[in-house]
Amino acid sequence: MTIRQAILTDTTHCIGCNACVDACKKENQLSKDLPRRWKRRIDDLSSTRFTTVLAKSGGRFVRQQCRHCLEPACVSACIVGALTKTPQGPVIYDGDKCMGCRYCMVACPYGIPRYDWEKPIPYVRKCTMCYSRIEAGGQPACVDACDQGATVFGPRDQLREEAHHRLKRNPKKYIDKVYGETQVGGTSVLYVSDIPLDFLSLNPELGDTPLPDLTWAALSKVPPIILGMGGLMAGVWWITGRRQKLAGTVETATDKKEKKS
Ligand code: SF4
Ligand code: SF4
Ligand code: SF4
Repeated sequence: MTIRQAILTDTTHCIGCNACVDACKKENQLSKDLPRRWKRRIDDLSSTRFTTVLAKSGGRFVRQQCRHCLEPACVSACIVGALTKTPQGPVIYDGDKCMGCRYCMVACPYGIPRYDWEKPIPYVRKCTMCYSRIEAGGQPACVDACDQGATVFGPRDQLREEAHHRLKRNPKKYIDKVYGETQVGGTSVLYVSDIPLDFLSLNPELGDTPLPDLTWAALSKVPPIILGMGGLMAGVWWITGRRQKLAGTVETATDKKEKKS
């Protein structure tokens, strides 16, 4: 039987050193973060940053990443099966199947997936929980890099127990809640904290009901013209873009500039 894995982040141990962010960038060969008009801050999650460390008041730091939901809304929203929930826990992405409709971005309750807006052939980008490392028997690069033990990896059941032990051992220190234990049906990234973490969800009132059942209900609240146009444009883009890619004819604006000079 495959053991379901998870990450437990304890914000009380995090010193905001960003070693996890740097390790993720190295592991995923992500380029330098650049200011873009669609980012609020340069260190927002983006196509070049799959995890980020948010500085909160009181000198607290909170790492943000995909929660690898047990029943992921992004997976159920993807009509071509580009996103998959693996038995080990990670939610992974197949760019070859993606048609660029971005329904996954609308569906995610934590606002995680980002789009390669700057690329001529954009992909959806997000944390993969370092699936290939897990498959090889290792642990995510960000966890390896954290020498404070603020973010640890292991079987989800064990980490859930560990989280409850910490709350019991130090009831005055922690908020009495294991974030991600049951929210939206449970997630593979759990948190314990001494500050409220509701800001990590787009909707702080998210319940425990898994979202896939609600995904299409939620998407139906988005004006049909937007979704319809999104689907149509994505389809057109997918056919032309993929053909160009196969033919190796897609040029970036930078390529064109370089050719001219
Ligand atoms: S490496 Fe650990 S301590 Fe440093 S920012 Fe990341 S989670 Fe926090
Ligand atoms: S946090 Fe969002 S992107 Fe990550 S698995 Fe859950 S629904 Fe998908
Ligand atoms: S699990 Fe891997 S991809 Fe996800 S944040 Fe950590 S290093 Fe990055």
